[in-house]
Amino acid sequence: MKTLELLKRIPKVDIHCHLDGSVRTATIIDAARKHNFKLPTEDPQQLNKYVQVSPTCKSLTDFLKRFEFFYDFLKFPDVVERISYELCEDVSKENIKYLEVRFAPFLQSSDRFSIEDVIRTAISGLMQGARDFHIGVGAIVCIYRSLPDDINRLTVSLAEKYFGKGVAGIDLAGDETKYPAERYAEFFEYARKRRIPITCHAGEAAGAESIRKALELGARRIGHGVHLAEDEGLYKKVMDEGIPIEMCLTSNVQTQVVKSYKTHPFLKFYEDGLKVTLNTDDRSVSGIDLTHEYLVAVEQYGLKISDIIKIILNGINSLFLPESEIDNIKKCMSDIIERMLLEERSGRTGGTTTGGKNDFQRNRIPEHY
Ligand SMILES: [Zn+2]
Repeated sequence: MKTLELLKRIPKVDIHCHLDGSVRTATIIDAARKHNFKLPTEDPQQLNKYVQVSPTCKSLTDFLKRFEFFYDFLKFPDVVERISYELCEDVSKENIKYLEVRFAPFLQSSDRFSIEDVIRTAISGLMQGARDFHIGVGAIVCIYRSLPDDINRLTVSLAEKYFGKGVAGIDLAGDETKYPAERYAEFFEYARKRRIPITCHAGEAAGAESIRKALELGARRIGHGVHLAEDEGLYKKVMDEGIPIEMCLTSNVQTQVVKSYKTHPFLKFYEDGLKVTLNTDDRSVSGIDLTHEYLVAVEQYGLKISDIIKIILNGINSLFLPESEIDNIKKCMSDIIERMLLEERSGRTGGTTTGGKNDFQRNRIPEHY
Protein backbone atom coordinates (compact mmCIF):
# COMPACT_ATOMS: atom_id res chain seq x y z
CA MET A 1 0.00 0.00 0.00
CA LYS A 2 1.32 3.44 -0.81
CA THR A 3 2.34 5.52 2.19
CA LEU A 4 -0.23 8.23 1.50
CA GLU A 5 -3.05 5.70 1.29
CA LEU A 6 -1.90 3.97 4.43
CA LEU A 7 -1.70 7.25 6.33
CA LYS A 8 -5.16 8.16 5.12
CA ARG A 9 -6.65 4.86 6.22
CA ILE A 10 -5.02 4.67 9.60
CA PRO A 11 -7.42 5.89 12.31
CA LYS A 12 -6.32 9.23 13.72
CA VAL A 13 -7.29 11.97 16.15
CA ASP A 14 -6.90 15.73 15.81
CA ILE A 15 -6.75 17.67 19.07
CA HIS A 16 -5.82 21.11 17.70
CA CYS A 17 -8.20 22.15 14.96
CA HIS A 18 -9.83 25.57 14.59
CA LEU A 19 -13.38 25.63 13.30
CA ASP A 20 -12.95 28.99 11.56
CA GLY A 21 -9.81 27.79 9.76
CA SER A 22 -11.51 24.66 8.49
CA VAL A 23 -14.29 26.01 6.26
CA ARG A 24 -14.89 24.70 2.75
CA THR A 25 -14.49 27.26 -0.02
CA ALA A 26 -17.81 26.13 -1.54
CA THR A 27 -19.51 26.90 1.76
CA ILE A 28 -18.03 30.40 1.84
CA ILE A 29 -19.54 30.96 -1.61
CA ASP A 30 -22.96 29.69 -0.50
CA ALA A 31 -22.86 31.73 2.70
CA ALA A 32 -21.92 34.89 0.82
CA ARG A 33 -24.78 34.37 -1.62
CA LYS A 34 -27.33 33.66 1.08
CA HIS A 35 -26.34 36.58 3.29
CA ASN A 36 -25.71 39.09 0.51
CA PHE A 37 -21.96 39.51 0.63
CA LYS A 38 -20.12 40.29 -2.56
CA LEU A 39 -17.22 38.02 -3.44
CA PRO A 40 -14.49 38.91 -5.95
CA THR A 41 -15.28 35.65 -7.71
CA GLU A 42 -17.63 32.71 -7.29
CA ASP A 43 -15.25 30.30 -8.89
CA PRO A 44 -13.94 28.07 -6.07
CA GLN A 45 -10.46 27.73 -7.60
CA GLN A 46 -10.11 31.45 -7.98
CA LEU A 47 -11.59 32.13 -4.55
CA ASN A 48 -8.99 29.84 -2.97
CA LYS A 49 -6.43 32.52 -3.75
CA TYR A 50 -8.23 34.74 -1.26
CA VAL A 51 -9.16 32.26 1.45
CA GLN A 52 -6.23 29.86 1.37
CA VAL A 53 -2.52 30.52 1.64
CA SER A 54 -0.30 29.19 -1.12
CA PRO A 55 1.76 26.11 -0.22
CA THR A 56 4.81 28.35 -0.10
CA CYS A 57 3.27 30.97 2.19
CA LYS A 58 5.94 32.34 4.49
CA SER A 59 4.25 35.18 6.30
CA LEU A 60 2.04 35.48 9.35
CA THR A 61 0.40 38.59 7.90
CA ASP A 62 -0.49 36.75 4.73
CA PHE A 63 -1.85 33.87 6.78
CA LEU A 64 -4.05 36.05 9.00
CA LYS A 65 -5.34 38.04 6.04
CA ARG A 66 -7.12 34.91 4.76
CA PHE A 67 -9.29 34.80 7.86
CA GLU A 68 -10.22 38.47 7.62
CA PHE A 69 -11.51 37.86 4.14
CA PHE A 70 -14.31 35.49 5.09
CA TYR A 71 -14.92 36.14 8.78
CA ASP A 72 -18.08 38.21 8.34
CA PHE A 73 -19.69 35.28 6.53
CA LEU A 74 -19.35 33.10 9.60
CA LYS A 75 -21.53 35.16 11.94
CA PHE A 76 -24.82 33.46 11.13
CA PRO A 77 -26.45 30.47 12.83
CA ASP A 78 -26.99 28.51 9.62
CA VAL A 79 -23.36 28.98 8.62
CA VAL A 80 -21.95 28.00 12.04
CA GLU A 81 -24.14 24.89 12.09
CA ARG A 82 -23.15 23.98 8.56
CA ILE A 83 -19.39 24.44 8.94
CA SER A 84 -19.45 22.42 12.17
CA TYR A 85 -21.34 19.61 10.47
CA GLU A 86 -19.21 19.66 7.32
CA LEU A 87 -15.99 19.57 9.32
CA CYS A 88 -17.12 16.24 10.80
CA GLU A 89 -17.69 14.92 7.28
CA ASP A 90 -14.32 16.19 6.06
CA VAL A 91 -12.34 14.66 8.90
CA SER A 92 -14.23 11.37 8.71
CA LYS A 93 -13.12 11.00 5.08
CA GLU A 94 -9.50 10.76 6.18
CA ASN A 95 -10.33 8.50 9.12
CA ILE A 96 -10.04 10.96 11.94
CA LYS A 97 -12.01 9.10 14.57
CA TYR A 98 -12.01 11.71 17.28
CA LEU A 99 -11.88 15.45 16.75
CA GLU A 100 -11.45 18.19 19.29
CA VAL A 101 -12.47 21.36 17.53
CA ARG A 102 -11.96 24.81 18.98
CA PHE A 103 -13.49 28.20 18.36
CA ALA A 104 -13.72 31.60 20.03
CA PRO A 105 -17.50 32.07 20.13
CA PHE A 106 -17.34 35.83 20.54
CA LEU A 107 -15.62 36.17 17.15
CA GLN A 108 -18.56 34.53 15.42
CA SER A 109 -21.22 36.34 17.40
CA SER A 110 -23.11 39.49 16.41
CA ASP A 111 -25.95 41.68 17.71
CA ARG A 112 -28.34 39.02 16.50
CA PHE A 113 -26.27 35.95 17.33
CA SER A 114 -25.20 35.72 20.96
CA ILE A 115 -22.07 34.06 22.29
CA GLU A 116 -24.21 31.38 23.90
CA ASP A 117 -26.08 30.77 20.67
CA VAL A 118 -22.78 30.39 18.78
CA ILE A 119 -21.70 27.69 21.25
CA ARG A 120 -25.10 25.96 21.14
CA THR A 121 -25.25 26.08 17.35
CA ALA A 122 -21.71 24.79 16.87
CA ILE A 123 -22.38 21.91 19.27
CA SER A 124 -25.58 21.08 17.43
CA GLY A 125 -23.74 20.90 14.07
CA LEU A 126 -20.91 18.88 15.56
CA MET A 127 -23.22 16.39 17.24
CA GLN A 128 -25.24 15.86 14.10
CA GLY A 129 -22.01 15.45 12.12
CA ALA A 130 -20.62 13.04 14.69
CA ARG A 131 -23.78 10.92 14.44
CA ASP A 132 -23.91 10.92 10.65
CA PHE A 133 -20.20 10.31 10.07
CA HIS A 134 -19.51 8.00 13.00
CA ILE A 135 -16.80 9.95 14.75
CA GLY A 136 -16.35 11.37 18.25
CA VAL A 137 -16.20 15.11 18.82
CA GLY A 138 -15.51 17.50 21.64
CA ALA A 139 -15.70 21.28 21.46
CA ILE A 140 -12.96 23.42 22.99
CA VAL A 141 -14.17 26.93 23.72
CA CYS A 142 -11.50 29.62 23.28
CA ILE A 143 -11.08 32.68 25.37
CA TYR A 144 -9.19 35.26 23.41
CA ARG A 145 -6.25 37.34 24.58
CA SER A 146 -7.24 40.63 22.95
CA LEU A 147 -10.84 40.57 24.18
CA PRO A 148 -12.11 42.48 27.22
CA ASP A 149 -12.28 40.52 30.47
CA ASP A 150 -16.09 40.66 30.68
CA ILE A 151 -16.41 38.84 27.35
CA ASN A 152 -13.86 36.21 28.36
CA ARG A 153 -15.62 35.86 31.73
CA LEU A 154 -18.93 35.22 30.01
CA THR A 155 -17.27 32.79 27.60
CA VAL A 156 -15.74 30.75 30.41
CA SER A 157 -19.01 30.60 32.32
CA LEU A 158 -20.77 29.37 29.17
CA ALA A 159 -18.04 26.78 28.65
CA GLU A 160 -18.90 25.56 32.15
CA LYS A 161 -22.62 25.53 31.34
CA TYR A 162 -22.04 23.28 28.32
CA PHE A 163 -19.18 21.28 29.78
CA GLY A 164 -20.05 17.61 29.42
CA LYS A 165 -22.83 18.54 27.00
CA GLY A 166 -20.61 19.08 23.98
CA VAL A 167 -17.86 21.21 25.47
CA ALA A 168 -14.74 19.27 26.44
CA GLY A 169 -12.41 22.04 27.52
CA ILE A 170 -11.17 25.62 27.28
CA ASP A 171 -8.30 27.16 25.30
CA LEU A 172 -6.51 30.48 25.52
CA ALA A 173 -5.88 31.77 21.99
CA GLY A 174 -4.75 35.05 20.41
CA ASP A 175 -1.53 37.03 20.35
CA GLU A 176 0.73 35.67 23.09
CA THR A 177 3.48 38.23 22.38
CA LYS A 178 1.26 41.16 23.36
CA TYR A 179 -0.95 39.48 25.94
CA PRO A 180 0.89 37.14 28.34
CA ALA A 181 -1.08 34.29 29.88
CA GLU A 182 -0.86 35.64 33.46
CA ARG A 183 -3.36 38.36 32.50
CA TYR A 184 -5.92 35.60 32.20
CA ALA A 185 -5.10 33.91 35.52
CA GLU A 186 -8.66 34.27 36.84
CA PHE A 187 -10.03 32.22 33.91
CA PHE A 188 -7.48 29.48 34.40
CA GLU A 189 -8.40 29.40 38.07
CA TYR A 190 -12.10 29.31 37.26
CA ALA A 191 -11.55 26.31 34.95
CA ARG A 192 -9.22 24.56 37.36
CA LYS A 193 -11.66 24.83 40.27
CA ARG A 194 -14.38 23.27 38.16
CA ARG A 195 -12.07 20.61 36.73
CA ILE A 196 -12.59 21.82 33.19
CA PRO A 197 -9.47 20.87 31.22
CA ILE A 198 -7.61 23.81 29.74
CA THR A 199 -5.08 24.05 26.95
CA CYS A 200 -3.16 27.12 25.89
CA HIS A 201 -1.55 28.44 22.73
CA ALA A 202 1.98 29.03 23.99
CA GLY A 203 5.52 29.02 22.66
CA GLU A 204 4.27 29.58 19.12
CA ALA A 205 4.96 33.29 18.51
CA ALA A 206 6.44 33.86 21.98
CA GLY A 207 9.29 32.08 23.76
CA ALA A 208 9.52 29.35 26.38
CA GLU A 209 8.50 31.77 29.15
CA SER A 210 5.01 31.80 27.66
CA ILE A 211 4.84 27.99 28.03
CA ARG A 212 6.11 28.16 31.62
CA LYS A 213 3.38 30.65 32.52
CA ALA A 214 0.65 28.58 30.87
CA LEU A 215 1.71 25.50 32.83
CA GLU A 216 1.99 27.41 36.11
CA LEU A 217 -1.55 28.60 35.58
CA GLY A 218 -2.79 25.06 35.10
CA ALA A 219 -2.78 24.35 31.36
CA ARG A 220 -2.90 20.59 30.83
CA ARG A 221 -1.69 20.75 27.24
CA ILE A 222 0.36 23.19 25.20
CA GLY A 223 -0.71 24.37 21.76
CA HIS A 224 2.35 24.46 19.46
CA GLY A 225 5.12 24.76 22.09
CA VAL A 226 7.70 25.23 19.34
CA HIS A 227 10.02 27.31 21.55
CA LEU A 228 10.03 24.86 24.45
CA ALA A 229 13.68 23.77 24.04
CA GLU A 230 14.88 27.32 24.74
CA ASP A 231 14.47 26.58 28.44
CA GLU A 232 16.30 23.42 29.40
CA GLY A 233 14.70 23.05 32.81
CA LEU A 234 11.21 23.54 31.45
CA TYR A 235 11.94 21.12 28.62
CA LYS A 236 12.86 18.45 31.13
CA LYS A 237 9.77 19.14 33.23
CA VAL A 238 7.46 18.84 30.21
CA MET A 239 9.22 15.62 29.26
CA ASP A 240 9.15 14.11 32.76
CA GLU A 241 5.52 15.03 33.37
CA GLY A 242 4.39 13.87 29.94
CA ILE A 243 2.63 17.14 29.16
CA PRO A 244 1.10 16.84 25.69
CA ILE A 245 2.30 19.21 22.96
CA GLU A 246 -0.20 19.92 20.18
CA MET A 247 2.12 20.33 17.20
CA CYS A 248 1.03 21.73 13.82
CA LEU A 249 3.86 21.45 11.31
CA THR A 250 2.59 23.17 8.17
CA SER A 251 0.93 25.98 10.08
CA ASN A 252 4.25 26.74 11.80
CA VAL A 253 6.10 26.88 8.49
CA GLN A 254 3.45 29.03 6.83
CA THR A 255 3.34 31.55 9.67
CA GLN A 256 7.14 31.50 9.86
CA VAL A 257 7.29 30.33 13.45
CA VAL A 258 9.99 28.10 11.96
CA LYS A 259 11.86 28.62 8.69
CA SER A 260 11.15 25.17 7.26
CA TYR A 261 10.00 21.65 8.11
CA LYS A 262 13.67 20.71 8.50
CA THR A 263 14.25 23.30 11.21
CA HIS A 264 11.04 22.42 13.08
CA PRO A 265 11.77 20.99 16.55
CA PHE A 266 9.18 18.21 16.11
CA LEU A 267 11.73 15.45 15.47
CA LYS A 268 13.93 16.44 18.41
CA PHE A 269 10.88 16.51 20.70
CA TYR A 270 9.76 13.12 19.44
CA GLU A 271 13.18 11.49 19.72
CA ASP A 272 13.67 12.91 23.20
CA GLY A 273 10.45 11.22 24.26
CA LEU A 274 8.14 14.21 24.65
CA LYS A 275 4.45 13.54 24.33
CA VAL A 276 4.06 15.09 20.88
CA THR A 277 0.87 14.96 18.87
CA LEU A 278 0.25 15.96 15.24
CA ASN A 279 -2.65 18.21 14.31
CA THR A 280 -3.92 20.46 11.54
CA ASP A 281 -4.55 23.87 13.19
CA ASP A 282 -6.37 25.38 10.16
CA ARG A 283 -7.15 22.76 7.55
CA SER A 284 -8.69 24.92 4.86
CA VAL A 285 -6.62 28.09 5.29
CA SER A 286 -3.43 26.02 5.21
CA GLY A 287 -4.73 23.85 2.36
CA ILE A 288 -3.90 20.63 4.18
CA ASP A 289 -5.46 17.75 6.07
CA LEU A 290 -4.12 15.56 8.86
CA THR A 291 -2.97 12.87 6.43
CA HIS A 292 -0.78 15.52 4.81
CA GLU A 293 0.78 16.36 8.17
CA TYR A 294 1.61 12.70 8.80
CA LEU A 295 3.05 12.45 5.30
CA VAL A 296 5.27 15.42 6.10
CA ALA A 297 6.43 13.58 9.22
CA VAL A 298 7.27 10.50 7.14
CA GLU A 299 8.97 12.34 4.30
CA GLN A 300 10.79 15.04 6.24
CA TYR A 301 11.72 13.16 9.38
CA GLY A 302 11.80 9.55 8.20
CA LEU A 303 9.14 8.35 10.64
CA LYS A 304 8.01 4.74 10.31
CA ILE A 305 4.47 3.46 10.72
CA SER A 306 5.30 2.36 14.27
CA ASP A 307 6.28 5.99 15.05
CA ILE A 308 3.05 7.24 13.50
CA ILE A 309 1.01 4.87 15.66
CA LYS A 310 2.87 6.07 18.74
CA ILE A 311 2.07 9.70 17.91
CA ILE A 312 -1.59 8.86 17.29
CA LEU A 313 -1.67 7.12 20.68
CA ASN A 314 -0.16 10.23 22.27
CA GLY A 315 -3.09 12.16 20.80
CA ILE A 316 -5.66 9.71 22.15
CA ASN A 317 -4.05 9.75 25.60
CA SER A 318 -4.19 13.55 25.57
CA LEU A 319 -7.90 13.86 24.76
CA PHE A 320 -10.01 15.92 27.12
CA LEU A 321 -12.04 12.90 28.14
CA PRO A 322 -12.25 10.69 31.23
CA GLU A 323 -9.83 7.73 31.38
CA SER A 324 -12.56 5.18 30.70
CA GLU A 325 -13.55 6.95 27.46
CA ILE A 326 -9.92 7.17 26.38
CA ASP A 327 -9.53 3.44 27.05
CA ASN A 328 -12.58 2.71 24.90
CA ILE A 329 -11.21 4.77 22.04
CA LYS A 330 -7.80 3.15 22.35
CA LYS A 331 -9.38 -0.26 22.18
CA CYS A 332 -11.39 0.57 19.06
CA MET A 333 -8.38 2.16 17.42
CA SER A 334 -5.97 -0.63 18.27
CA ASP A 335 -8.37 -3.23 16.89
CA ILE A 336 -8.53 -1.34 13.62
CA ILE A 337 -4.79 -0.70 13.45
CA GLU A 338 -4.11 -4.37 14.20
CA ARG A 339 -6.42 -5.43 11.36
CA MET A 340 -4.75 -2.94 9.04
CA LEU A 341 -1.27 -4.17 9.81
CA LEU A 342 -2.41 -7.76 9.34
CA GLU A 343 -3.94 -6.87 5.99
CA GLU A 344 -0.81 -5.00 5.07
CA ARG A 345 1.37 -8.00 5.85
CA SER A 346 -0.89 -10.41 4.00
CA GLY A 347 -0.94 -8.11 0.95
CA ARG A 348 -4.68 -7.43 1.13
CA THR A 349 -5.54 -3.80 0.77
CA GLY A 350 -9.30 -3.96 0.81
CA GLY A 351 -11.36 -1.28 2.43
CA THR A 352 -12.72 -2.99 5.49
CA THR A 353 -10.34 -1.66 8.06
CA THR A 354 -11.40 1.89 8.52
CA GLY A 355 -13.57 1.23 11.51
CA GLY A 356 -16.88 -0.37 12.19
CA LYS A 357 -19.91 1.81 11.87
CA ASN A 358 -20.50 1.72 15.58
CA ASP A 359 -16.90 1.81 16.76
CA PHE A 360 -16.78 5.55 17.11
CA GLN A 361 -20.36 6.63 17.40
CA ARG A 362 -19.62 9.03 20.21
CA ASN A 363 -21.75 11.90 19.19
CA ARG A 364 -21.76 13.19 22.70
CA ILE A 365 -19.23 14.04 25.31
CA PRO A 366 -20.06 11.89 28.31
CA GLU A 367 -22.01 13.62 31.03
CA HIS A 368 -19.88 12.24 33.82
CA TYR A 369 -16.62 13.90 34.66
ZN1 LIG B 1 -4.14 27.10 16.96
